[in-house]
Amino acid sequence: MQYVLVSACLLGRPVRYNGRAAAGDHPVLAAWESEGRLIVVCPEVAAGLPVPRPPAEITAMQSGRDVLQGKAQVLESGGRDVSRVFVSGAKQALAVAKGKNIQIAILKEGSPSCGTSFIYDGSFTGTKHPQAGVTAALLQDAGIRVFSELELDEAAAYLKGLEAEISDENGQHNGM
Ligand code: SF4
Repeated sequence: MQYVLVSACLLGRPVRYNGRAAAGDHPVLAAWESEGRLIVVCPEVAAGLPVPRPPAEITAMQSGRDVLQGKAQVLESGGRDVSRVFVSGAKQALAVAKGKNIQIAILKEGSPSCGTSFIYDGSFTGTKHPQAGVTAALLQDAGIRVFSELELDEAAAYLKGLEAEISDENGQHNGM
């Protein structure tokens, strides 16, 4: 069975910066949970950040990939540089994924760690910026297909295709 990495806040865990969970109540997630497929991670809490914590954004319209390359910072709203903590959380999430041979992740959109198609632009004004967060970028660069909670139907179709491919390969290896 293919496991799926998922942001903890999407499963109702109250780990977001504001001490809340995210609304992630979706039949695809519920089905995967009942199948025992979900491997839950919160990169920021895994890296030692508390709940609640100040909101953080990647600076100056840059991306999670820029943070990984040391070209941008993640700053809390009060100005504290938490870049290293965010990179550490991303690496921990990747290690978990590798340990389970995970090829697909569902991450919370908009987060400076987990955002896939957008994050916020570093101005703390609620302005969206079309880039991935630090964890999403690291997982993508490792070849893991990352979807947001807004793309769960696409993710379900992708997983189905992946499992069909793996079952074909196993069939060929078994001489079927
Ligand atoms: Fe959710 Fe990811 Fe933020 Fe943790 S780091 S609260 S899993 S969006």
